[in-house]
Amino acid sequence: MLRILNFRIGNRLYSLKAAKKDAKKYTDTINLPKTKFPNRLTAAKREEQERLVLENKIAVSYQHQEQRLAEKGPPTFVLHDGPPYANGQLHMGHAVNKILKDITLRQRVAHGQQVNYIPGWDCHGLPIELKATSTAPGQNALEIRQKSRAFALEAIKSQKEEFRSWGILANWQKDDIYMTIQPEFIVNQLQMFHNLYERGLVYRDLKPVYWSPSSRTALAEAELEYDPNHISPSVYLRFALNPNGLNVEAKDKQIYALVWTTTPWTLPSNQAICYNASLEYVLVRLSDHNHPDELYLIASALLAVFEANTQLKCEIVQNVSGNSLSNFTYKHPIDKEQSNLPFFDASHVQDSKGTGLVHTAPAHGPEDFLVSLTKKIPVKCLVNEDGNYTKEAPNFLRGQSVLEQGNPLVLEHIAKDVVHSAKLEHSYPIDWRTKQPVIIRASDQWFINTEKLKAPASEALESVEIYPSSNAEASKKALLTQLQKRPYWCISRQRAWGVPIPVLYSRQTGKVVINSALIEHLCNLLRQEGSMDFWWTKSVEEMVPPNILSELGYETKDLVKGSDILDIWFDSGSTWSAVLKKDKIADLYLEGYDQFTGWFQSSLLMSIAARGCAPYKAVFVHGFTVDEKGYKMSKSLGNVISPKQITKKYGTDALRWWVASHGTQHMSITVSDKLLQQAAENLSKIRGTLRYLNGVIGEKQSNEQLLKTSDKSFLNRYLLSQLVEFESEVENLYKGYEYNRVVACVQNFLANQVSAIYVHLIKDRLYCGDDQELLAIRQTLTHCYQQLCKSLWPIVPFLVEESWSYYDATGAAFHEQSVRAKPEWQDTKATELVNAALDVKRLINQQAGEVNTWHLAVTIKGRKGSQLELLLELHPTLGETLRNSELCELLQVGSVTLIQSDDNELDIAITTLQTSLCPRCRRFSLDEDCELETCQRCSAIMNVKH
Ligand SMILES: [Zn+2]
Repeated sequence: MLRILNFRIGNRLYSLKAAKKDAKKYTDTINLPKTKFPNRLTAAKREEQERLVLENKIAVSYQHQEQRLAEKGPPTFVLHDGPPYANGQLHMGHAVNKILKDITLRQRVAHGQQVNYIPGWDCHGLPIELKATSTAPGQNALEIRQKSRAFALEAIKSQKEEFRSWGILANWQKDDIYMTIQPEFIVNQLQMFHNLYERGLVYRDLKPVYWSPSSRTALAEAELEYDPNHISPSVYLRFALNPNGLNVEAKDKQIYALVWTTTPWTLPSNQAICYNASLEYVLVRLSDHNHPDELYLIASALLAVFEANTQLKCEIVQNVSGNSLSNFTYKHPIDKEQSNLPFFDASHVQDSKGTGLVHTAPAHGPEDFLVSLTKKIPVKCLVNEDGNYTKEAPNFLRGQSVLEQGNPLVLEHIAKDVVHSAKLEHSYPIDWRTKQPVIIRASDQWFINTEKLKAPASEALESVEIYPSSNAEASKKALLTQLQKRPYWCISRQRAWGVPIPVLYSRQTGKVVINSALIEHLCNLLRQEGSMDFWWTKSVEEMVPPNILSELGYETKDLVKGSDILDIWFDSGSTWSAVLKKDKIADLYLEGYDQFTGWFQSSLLMSIAARGCAPYKAVFVHGFTVDEKGYKMSKSLGNVISPKQITKKYGTDALRWWVASHGTQHMSITVSDKLLQQAAENLSKIRGTLRYLNGVIGEKQSNEQLLKTSDKSFLNRYLLSQLVEFESEVENLYKGYEYNRVVACVQNFLANQVSAIYVHLIKDRLYCGDDQELLAIRQTLTHCYQQLCKSLWPIVPFLVEESWSYYDATGAAFHEQSVRAKPEWQDTKATELVNAALDVKRLINQQAGEVNTWHLAVTIKGRKGSQLELLLELHPTLGETLRNSELCELLQVGSVTLIQSDDNELDIAITTLQTSLCPRCRRFSLDEDCELETCQRCSAIMNVKH
């Protein structure tokens, strides 16, 4: 415990007037930091400077690390790029993603590890196809493909330029990128499709899709329009029930389930009734109905609506809990053969409309289809491509159009079961081209067998590291949940802009025709032609040579080409296989949390399917950008800030600093002028410190010259020791992907250890000391400068390279992967001594207030074996007043006297010296009896210099 017992302040403060008068003539003898590194840049200069760094340093740094670090240090770190969509302008989400990746790669390089990163683009898919076709509808597949390709390539060109401008480390010079339209990429994909098909992991099955009978094709959601005035029948029907397990008073009464539908044409395909076990149901008697013995089942919450819609009065006979419906069965309304169809509990059944009992036809509704998947009931489709009933349909419907005669014919056939019929005007999907109504119809689609893959995929995920670690458990759980929740993966699309599913079908039977010779032949054609356009332009005869046909056992006239393309998630799910080298396992995938259901999952499933392991060792999950009020950025809200605006206003490094500061710790990443302004201000401070260090250390010296000084200063040893800790802390934070904490750690180190302590306390020695002292400071600060550059380079490479060019005009910061703090710099003693002095200094400053502390004479009394021992190391004599000990320098006082006492606590006494200070250094007093104009130290130094 330190305590100041006596504090006396002198009766007059020394005037500096006399010293000021002569100060000017000593300016040349003072070693002031000098550098041409500018303090700040105008926007125009900054742009020019960024261009210089990009062209001269960043452009070559990827190859440099590839050559220089190859086979040295640890194994190559592979970050596999999740391909952005080749569509539109880059937004803040792209900036967060690419810059986080870049910081990750750069920090590895800064620690001597070679990295592998090949930027990629996802090029196929509906959004591009829609843009390409929006100007000229009615184009054929080849025209659509050509326009889409041109559109994607144009988008890639502009996106690539912007990524590059952000300083993203990649081999841009050799244009080493991947695109899902590259022939070799597609070759890999076709082979993968065939491999999975052969192994039964890819199969063909029915699935309901929007189908346009008028254009005889499946439609994507984006191709639907809605007719708000479409008229449909609105019908309450009854299905005869077998109420197994239900205790009904009069056993002979007939009981019916009431269902409501607007698509009676789907009734022939009915396979189940869905209910919701959490709802309450009632059995009612219809009071004005002709059959008093009949009871009707309906959800109690919907009874009033039913009465209002049908004008029927109901009398509740009995309550039935939703739970008890599971044993019920019913008779098919049309097909009398099916007399025991099931009831299924399903959460999509709600009490907001209908009867709480839903007619379920898996071929004609997405929710119905999901029920069929979980309950394993067949998808029965009785409607063909033209929207007509097939020959499997009941006699009275065969060949009829479902949209025209379907509803009236069905209703007529089951007239006695129609409880009430009306018309409903509602919004109904129509084909965007023909403007005709569409239906939902099951058609043959291609699937990946996710059921077989879920268990091994979940198991593989167990050993994948998830970052940020603070959120790892929740992220892993989300990934697993999404994986388990996935009901199926349909990989076929009825579009033109994509990779064709490389399959022929028997014209007669529809059977799939494929073999490895066919796939290999298609791959060769693709390599020759550069694209898969031939799939659309060549006939089967032109495409498949006779030897392969005979191997397949078909003649050309018996075969038709498939017209489906692969889902783009099949494209991007296969990138690991097409792009990665060696074992094709990435060290890291780094994407936003939306990829839980996207790329993280599709890549995992495809890798498990192809070879039984995950394609990544670790996954980093980042969040999404929002405005300062927490709203998602959108054009309609007018709150969009683009990366371009930011780099223009604040500079690229400010964008990167903002990403590092805010991109890793929260799932909502706020973009605001305030935060970006803050980033720019932080960088301006860092620039100031680097500039100061540039000024002190000057240009790069040869190592030999640096090593010459054997330095005994505790303050220098203190800073070196701090560097060891700083380096290991930064390294650990980088390794844990805690870039926000790296930012805080660097700022803290600069503000405290470097600026407030070291640079502040060495000023006298630096400006006015002898050459040895100066060399020792330069040596210490050079280590500090290199260490700072190394820790800042991953985040703000533009600033670091700019500063470095004033230190080493011919080199570059990225050359310095070998910079390491030496373990022997760790110096407990120096740290302890300097900290003890700083404790005393704090107390002196508290009491001395605003006075110039160089005027102070300090006497410190303490007991042997206490802090006095530490101070004695810095001030080697007891009882003697010294002006030039390191303790004087650390305390920044004119003199110190250490005295041994019996008191347990330190006693610090301060007096003000009445002497003049040296006009050169303004530290030492001028000796009154001496004729020298400057202090002895300064006089001696000037004698040596001149
Ligand atoms: Zn002096």
